[in-house]
Amino acid sequence: MATPTSATSTPITVAYGDGIGPEIMAATLRILKEAGARLEIETIDVGEKVYLSGNTSGIAASSWDSLRRTKVFLKAPITTPQGGGYKSLNVTTRKMLGLYANIRPCVSYHPFVRTRHPNMDVVIVRENEEDLYAGIEYQTTPEETQALKVITRPGSEKIVRYAFEYARQYNRKKVTCFTKDNILKMTDGLFHKIFDEIGPEYPEIEREHWIVDIGAAKLADTPEAFDVVVMPNLYGDVLSDVAAQIAGSVGLAGSSNIGDHAAMFEAIHGSAPRRAGQNLANPSGLLQGAVLMLVHIGQIDIAERVQNAWLRTIEDGIHTYDIYVEGQSKQKVGTKEFADAVIARLGKMPEKLKAVHYSPKPTAAPVKRATRPAPKKDLVGVDVYVEWPAKNAAELAAKISQVNGDGLALEMIANRGMKVWPDGSPETFCTDSFRCRFIGSATTPENILALLGRVVKLGLEIAMTENLRNYDGKAGFTLAQGQ
Ligand code: NAD
Repeated sequence: MATPTSATSTPITVAYGDGIGPEIMAATLRILKEAGARLEIETIDVGEKVYLSGNTSGIAASSWDSLRRTKVFLKAPITTPQGGGYKSLNVTTRKMLGLYANIRPCVSYHPFVRTRHPNMDVVIVRENEEDLYAGIEYQTTPEETQALKVITRPGSEKIVRYAFEYARQYNRKKVTCFTKDNILKMTDGLFHKIFDEIGPEYPEIEREHWIVDIGAAKLADTPEAFDVVVMPNLYGDVLSDVAAQIAGSVGLAGSSNIGDHAAMFEAIHGSAPRRAGQNLANPSGLLQGAVLMLVHIGQIDIAERVQNAWLRTIEDGIHTYDIYVEGQSKQKVGTKEFADAVIARLGKMPEKLKAVHYSPKPTAAPVKRATRPAPKKDLVGVDVYVEWPAKNAAELAAKISQVNGDGLALEMIANRGMKVWPDGSPETFCTDSFRCRFIGSATTPENILALLGRVVKLGLEIAMTENLRNYDGKAGFTLAQGQ
């Protein structure tokens, strides 16, 4: 699909949401209209009303038709009702529409909005579909639960490339990657490796990698040292809120969720139910989301007009209660009056804050997914998790090694990732879930099935199993700690 030119009217889907949602959406749309945005708006219902009508996803099936038709979604915050059974609308929308990139610009507006970081201008690019948010969890034994962290090569390639393309489009100088690959060598290791593979295709952009713990500390302490930061889902979830908060206010940040087929734009804050219906809420976060949307649909001129008028309003000291500071702000206004003030400044530029100039999205064809030769796979064993309430590894080893056969032999037993047999440490704390690793250099699925059958015959309860493979001769599994 061609990128719409700024002269074309663009269909978008709008949801007014819950709590303060309807007020801030009305204010935002009024500003867009007065700025000359060319939009054909379709409205859908999402959120509390839909949840309470018995739809646990918070969005009616018919609303997907609108989203698939317009491919652009401007969404106000919603209230997720208390109590179990309600699925997160955000997670559902991201997954249904394949919105793999969450982009959150975190900018400080010093000295007009209070912040300890006057020169902060960081964009967090968060992977949006994978990682622990795949939501794959198990209770394996009475004492143990597990969650799977899923990091894929294509998923990581998409988000890392998006971060570099974003940096190029917005003339950013550096992309930083945060992972924990000193511990998570396979999953975060893959993400880091892909960052190192793709980065050199953008020689004009500096790149660096930090382990997430010290990287997060540095981001919170000296955010001005960062530019674009790309991260797997969980770290991005946590650190994008930290970044928005230290920039000055979560009430001022918007975000986009971008996919190959559709995109969603919103404020980062929630529905603030206690402020609803009082003409108090700050519409800036949603307006920032709407500006990201205007750039996305190619209405660059309108995006600049709105953003520069908004910056001028902020620097003129016209503030809603959440950012109003006595003696520093000039006028405390409500939602509607704030929108009026922005509208009155359309066409004006900020005088102290930096005015924005956006460039159109690159029109180059999207980069095709790299095809790589299929690796040589060798099945070399199986991890069998068994429930062993006695919690004594040596006794378990004596029992379970009776199933050795067909070239498969018990190599080690681990508990919570730590090797406890052979040569376990007597101080290691054990739960009831033991991972028994059987290795056989060139084994077969039949050999593994037969081994599992022998474990069951022995009277042991199998909690779960994982096949062990080598890829091009390299282990596709990690050693246990202490192994
Ligand atoms: P919240 O963001 O709604 O409110 C946190 C605090 O910030 C409150 O003090 C609130 O008054 C203030 N605040 C937030 N936005 C403001 C604005 N625009 N102007 C002025 N003040 C503002 O977070 P919460 O209280 O934890 O959640 C309330 C509801 O929102 C919950 O049901 C939650 O599930 C939902 N929520 C929705 C989204 C979303 O739709 N994307 C995101 C987060 C939370």
